[in-house]
Amino acid sequence: MSVVKQLYQLQEIDLELESSEQALNQITSQLGESEAVVKAQEKLAQERQRLEELKRQQHSVEWEIDGVRSKLTAVEEELYSGRIRNPKELANLQYDVDGLKAKRDKLEDKALEIMDQVELAAKNTISLDEELKTLEADWQSQQQQLTANLEQLKTTLSNFKHKRQLLTAEIDPQVLEVYHELKKLRGTAVAKVERGICRGCRISLPITELQQARSGSLVRCSSCGRVLFLA
Ligand SMILES: [Zn+2]
Repeated sequence: MSVVKQLYQLQEIDLELESSEQALNQITSQLGESEAVVKAQEKLAQERQRLEELKRQQHSVEWEIDGVRSKLTAVEEELYSGRIRNPKELANLQYDVDGLKAKRDKLEDKALEIMDQVELAAKNTISLDEELKTLEADWQSQQQQLTANLEQLKTTLSNFKHKRQLLTAEIDPQVLEVYHELKKLRGTAVAKVERGICRGCRISLPITELQQARSGSLVRCSSCGRVLFLA
């Protein structure tokens, strides 16, 4: 194999290595915690906390209602027992009964209001939980796919690195140096020649350069300096 062909193959390998490394970096940046999942977890935790707080309020109001009801029963029993005859005392008891009834009604309204809120919060919790599960499942399958792609890329990369090692071992170190310098300077070191034109700089090449290149010897474009490769 001519040295030019070897350099061209080296360039192909380097391009493959670069694009594989880019893909690898992109995948690596996509691996890890999902912002959407974390946000959904936080939202669910907040709603659950709110539900617990509402349930606590509900129990406390129910407990308060029980207290008022039993007090009311006791006062009404006293009022209608017939034991008390003093009109002023009776009027006082009636006043207490009215007050306790008003308090009971108010608490019962409050209990109903809280019950509605509890129901709503419970519904929200269920739908947030479902949302989170969907997000987690999507994220998990995406991560699995990414991990599989990553493994494949790693294999590809190590194969290309091995090929590169074998190839560079066959190339004269001084020629390799020229290759690396050109690559640094121009991005690519080897340019294909098509219809007498250097594909690196799109300049028509002189006949002598073309003839030399055709013979397989290392010729560099007089315009851009790249090594000319005739397929
Ligand atoms: Zn050129």
